[in-house]
Formats: sequence, C-alpha cells, structure tokens
Amino acid sequence: MTVDTTTSTQALLERLGIRAENPGAFAGTWIDTKGDRFESVNPATGEPIAAVNMATEEDYERVAATVQKAFEAWRLWPAPKRGEVVRQLGQELRRHKDDLGALVTLEAGKVKSEGLGEVQEMIDICDFAVGLSRQLYGKTMHSERPSHRMYEQWHPLGPVGIVTAFNFPVAVWSWNSAIAAVCGDSMIWKPSSETPLTALAVTRIAQRVLEANDAPPIFGLILADRRVGKVMTADRRLPLISATGSVTMGRAIGNVVSDRLGRSLLELGGNNGIIVTENADQDLALRAVLFAAFGTAGQRCTTARRLFLHKSIAAGFKEKLVRAAKSIPVGDPAEDGVLMGPLINRRAVDDMMNALETVKEQGGEILCGGKTIDRPGFYVEPTVVTATAGMPITCEETFAPILYVFEFDDLDQAIEMHNAVPQGLSSSIFTLNMREAERFLAATGSDCGIANVNIATSGAEIGGAFGGEKETGGGREAGSDSWKLYMRRQTCTINWGTEMPLAQGVEFDVG
Ligand code: NAD
Repeated sequence: MTVDTTTSTQALLERLGIRAENPGAFAGTWIDTKGDRFESVNPATGEPIAAVNMATEEDYERVAATVQKAFEAWRLWPAPKRGEVVRQLGQELRRHKDDLGALVTLEAGKVKSEGLGEVQEMIDICDFAVGLSRQLYGKTMHSERPSHRMYEQWHPLGPVGIVTAFNFPVAVWSWNSAIAAVCGDSMIWKPSSETPLTALAVTRIAQRVLEANDAPPIFGLILADRRVGKVMTADRRLPLISATGSVTMGRAIGNVVSDRLGRSLLELGGNNGIIVTENADQDLALRAVLFAAFGTAGQRCTTARRLFLHKSIAAGFKEKLVRAAKSIPVGDPAEDGVLMGPLINRRAVDDMMNALETVKEQGGEILCGGKTIDRPGFYVEPTVVTATAGMPITCEETFAPILYVFEFDDLDQAIEMHNAVPQGLSSSIFTLNMREAERFLAATGSDCGIANVNIATSGAEIGGAFGGEKETGGGREAGSDSWKLYMRRQTCTINWGTEMPLAQGVEFDVG
C-alpha cells in the first residue's frame, strides 16, 4: 500500500511540532540559532523534509551554561523522584510511539517495524531506569581498623555530552539520557546532522515532561556540525562524553577527551561475524543471517558483515542464502511488506560501490546483488560476496548490506578467522552442539563485547550492557551496571572510635 506522503507527512510533522524551518538548539527554551541552514532529506526519495538552522559556538555556550545550572538543581532531587520523571517520559513516548516511529522511517529510512522498534527501545530503557532509580547501590566493606566503617556511595557526575549516529537517531539518546537522568546528570545531545528532526521531536516531548514536573531543563540539544561537536567534546564542564559513531569519530573524540583527562564512553563501528557449524539448525541460522545482514539495509553497528560456514554445509547454505537475499522486498520503507529501505545518503551508496570494486580487485566474487537500484532515493541491492581470509576489505566496516562469506574446516580455525579484525562488537555461533557453543563463549572464543548462541549479531535487548572491544571502543551503555559510568564513586571511611589507628599498621605517634 502506498500512502499519501504529502498530506500525511505534513500532518505527522505538525503533530510532532516540526516546521519547515527549525531552530538548532534547545536550552530550556528554543534558541534562534544563526548557523548554516541544513535540509534534512528523506532517503527514500532524496527530497528535503524540513530545514534546521544549525547551532554556532555561541549557541553551544548558551546550552552548556543552562545544563550546567540545571545539573546543580537536578542532582539535589532524590533519585526515585528523578525516576518518576523518567517514568512519565516513558509514558509520553508510548503515547507518541506511532508518530515517532513514522518519523524515524521518514528521516532515517528504517522500515516501519524497525522505526517502531526503535521507539520501543526508548520506552524499555525508561522502564529500566525507573527501577534503577531505587537501586543505585553502593557496597559496604569491613574496615581493617577497629571502630571504623567503610562504604562507597555514588553521586551525580555532571552534565553529560551525548553524540549519536544517524542509524539509531533516537534510541541511543534514550539509552544514555534515561540512565543519566536517574543518576542525577543533565545532558547536551548532539545528534547526527543526517537526523535532526527526530532529535527535535524527542526534545520537545522530553521538555514537556520536565515542565509538567517543574524540573530543571536537563535535556539540552545542539544541532551542529563537527566543528561545534569538537567544542563540546573539549568542554571541561562535561565530565563524560558518550559518543556513538564510526571508529574515525571515536579516535578524534577519544583523543580530545583523554587530553583533558575526561571520561569517554565510546560505542564505535563493528565488523560482526556469524559462525554456522555443521551441527547448526540451518533453517534457524538462515533466517537469523538474513535479518542481521540485510535488516536496516546493513546500517546497524551490529549488522552481520562476515559469515563463516563449515565446508560440509557451505555450498547448500550459500545457495539458499542467495535465493533468499534476492527475494528480499526492497523499497519505500513506509510501505507495508518492505523489508529493506534505502541507505542514508548518496555518499553511503558510493562507499558501497567503491567497496565492491575493491572486493573484485582483491579476488572476491559477488554472488548476488552488488548494484544500485534505479529509482529516486538511495537504494542498493542486498549483496552476498564469496571472500577468503586475509582480504583487507573484509577487515573494514562498510556501512551497507554486503555480506562476506568464508568457509572453514574446524571451529578453532573459524574462531581465529572471526577474531582477526580490528573491531570487536557482536558475534554469534549457530550450533546445537553444546561443546561448540561453550568453546565459542570461552575466554579463547569470541573476542567481542556481545556473543550469542543461535541468535544473530543484531537486535540486542536493553537489559544487558551494550558495547564492544578493540576498535569498537570498550564502552558499555544501557542495562546491567552501565549506570556507574554516569556517576562518580566515593569511598567513605568513618572513624567512630576514640583511637586514631592508621591503615596497614603504620605508626606515626608524634610526641
Ligand atoms: P559518524 O562517525 O559519521 O558520526 C557519528 C556522530 O559523531 C555524528 O553526530 C557526527 O556529527 C559526530 N562527529 C563526528 N566526528 C566528530 C568529532 N570530531 N567531534 C564531535 N562529533 C563528531 O557515524 P555515522 O555515519 O553517523 O554512523 C555510523 C557509524 O556509527 C558506524 O560506524 C556504526 O557502526 C557506528 N555505530 C556504532 C554503534 C555502537 O553502539 N557501537 C551504534 C550505532 C552506530
């Protein structure tokens, strides 16, 4: 079914408070930004949706000063009261789920169910954060000295800088901001300039919740280019920069933050692999590989880019894979039944085509796909490539639907090939053999931050700590104890006795 985009899109934008021209910064109030005008483009058509006047360095300064002041007030709110505000944010997101999901589809090109899924992730992390607001536990320890008590407590950290990538235009903000908010932090969000409209819509919703609670303006926003982004990452008022994006970006931001001895949480590129052994349920594996490799048009950090097949099953599995990849419905992501939408922009299409030229030069064979699709927008075909270990292009993350297929003789070799890339985000094995599964999960198995058995590399739940090793940056966000990065730990020792014993039995009695 094709929808009437003109009227329905206008109505959607109006409901979410987006106009033809929009301000590019928010600090408790919208700032009349004077930076370059930027048009957000619908990747499904190549047509502009609406424009934003980007924030300048002066605008950034205003936002930073406001969130700094907001932090000073917000940190005094009891954590469960902060949790109540986040609970209401979750409720508002539930109310706006359909609209926000549709906006993600419009601006980022995700198919409908993925747009909605992204908003569901925001709701889930709000629920998680509400519970967390009553569980910011510190430990107590037994002191080695008599009549002494020792414990640790967690205090709010400060304003947090949040840099997000285009491919999760709203979920990644919520992973950070719901947790940071219950921890007592304020924040400044710098989204990707590819997806400013989703950020505007979310900020409006979040601010309404703050106002209804007479809460300080903890959710700042700047829509700005990398230049202003750099000013933000260098800002000593922000003790934590949480940055999601490419390895190149992570290196740049990581250097700036470490130079000022700040804390960074880096969520960078992946190059994720799936191993399918001769003991796998192949139907299960095939279904999982298809979503992981071609869902979101290959534009997830957890997208499966490398598939390792045991020699004995490789020929049959490849045949089924190619048949299925060719049958994936590619098209307008707003249409029912479409499973793969466009890439984000023309540059992403060019990057994919250049990578495929390199594939051919390095001896790879394109089994299916490999071409652009001739229609407005930025469409490409799901692509399967036969690759061999050592092809340098397979060590890079090309943010597009290209799946490299390798063959292996035994599991040790598969794990070695799997780990032989600079990135370390997500990984999977498909097997019904318990020994193979445990071998993959052992310390000598997958070297990634995420390791799955009979589940593909993408589609993580918020309850776990999300992130990866090596060039993926080492950061962890969302669930488990990731909240600790958003707080400062204080170890407290209290002497309630009448003596002054020193630790380690040191004596220092003067006179
Ligand atoms: P990108 O690196 O081009 O941009 C990401 C963000 O960083 C944008 O907001 C951009 O404006 C900003 N930025 C870039 N350089 C900067 C600098 N020097 N100072 C301050 N800000 C800067 O990435 P992208 O194309 O938007 O997203 C795709 C990439 O993100 C892929 O590599 C993908 O794997 C990665 N990603 C990782 C995760 C994860 O959790 N590990 C999640 C989503 C995306």
